[in-house]
Amino acid sequence: MRINLAHGLAIKSSPINGKGCFATVHFPRRKKIAEYAGEKISNAEAERRAVGRRKLRICGVDEYYSLDGARGGNGTHYINHSCQPNSFVSILYGHILFYALRDINPGEEITVDYELTLHPDTKRCSCGAMNCRGKINKQ
Ligand SMILES: [Zn+2]
Repeated sequence: MRINLAHGLAIKSSPINGKGCFATVHFPRRKKIAEYAGEKISNAEAERRAVGRRKLRICGVDEYYSLDGARGGNGTHYINHSCQPNSFVSILYGHILFYALRDINPGEEITVDYELTLHPDTKRCSCGAMNCRGKINKQ
């Protein structure tokens, strides 16, 4: 599948899980990394799509909508979860934006704390961080 990658990002196999999203440029702390891209779907449709999918590329926008990066994603849909992430998400006017939490060097995998996902609460985390909470969902 062909992906229109956002500037400064590359997709490679990840030590955390499957494929990950890696920086190819330096992102200074607090700098915007990229915007999440994908098909706009209702949250009801997001829940339907989550059933039986092992890899979820869906990111919630608000109480009504989500974006499914499996269709039309720009590489940010490969950003893995970490309990000690180097980026964070900010949702502004329906846009899902990733920002650097600290300086990120070329070659580093970009990670975010998912906090809440459509995965079951029992889904184990394999991020490898010192302070890993053991599960993907935070509760
Ligand atoms: Zn973890």
